[in-house]
Amino acid sequence: MECREVEDLLGAYLDGELEPPVSASVRDHVDTCATCRQRLANLESIGRMVRRAPYYQAPAGLRAQVIHARARSAATPHWLAWAAAAVVVASLTGSIVFVTSATRAARALDPVDAVAQEVVSSHVRALMAAHLFDVQSTDQHTVKPWFLGKLDFSPPVTDLAQAGYPLTGGRLDYLAGRPVAALVYTRGQHTINVFVWPEASDAVSSSDARVIRGFHVRHWVRQGTSYWAVSDVNDAELEQFVHALQQ
Ligand SMILES: [Zn+2]
Repeated sequence: MECREVEDLLGAYLDGELEPPVSASVRDHVDTCATCRQRLANLESIGRMVRRAPYYQAPAGLRAQVIHARARSAATPHWLAWAAAAVVVASLTGSIVFVTSATRAARALDPVDAVAQEVVSSHVRALMAAHLFDVQSTDQHTVKPWFLGKLDFSPPVTDLAQAGYPLTGGRLDYLAGRPVAALVYTRGQHTINVFVWPEASDAVSSSDARVIRGFHVRHWVRQGTSYWAVSDVNDAELEQFVHALQQ
């Protein structure tokens, strides 16, 4: 099977709607193709976000659109159905951010809290846009030099495959009002984003843990570098990951 064919089938594959032989072919392809594996992981992340998103009574207009979309879903390619789900999540997370910021506006906004919100938004955006990588490689000696000349600092890049968290690539991102390095690690089908940039103060030396919109977030500052790790892996695994990264 070729990537294009597999890409069209991934949604149906996840939903368990494929004939067993077709499903097996998709699984075989995904086992050997990193690109399609990443696509599948992204779809699964979106699926988890949809399942985890708080339940709201939908406005009548939206409900009508969803019912309409469902009625047509037999003729709708799966990727469209997944894209529709992503839009629903986007509007949900958008309104949550809005409500959160409106609530927070009443009191002084802690700058670290603000960055934490940005970190989670950036993680979700990268998964949804399927733009996790500018450089896709499991080799730290490929990923680290890629940032040369693109940032005014050189991010520390370590592969953690030995610890069970392989590096899969990196990209440029923009956070806290500056360009930052985003390093991408995986744990099974889960994605961990680590955002890195220089930090003048060593104010937060111990790890700061929080949960935002269902995502686990860890923040620490070490040797003049600010780290933010965010993922939907469970808290214990993220803790273990951070520990491995700090070694
Ligand atoms: Zn492929």
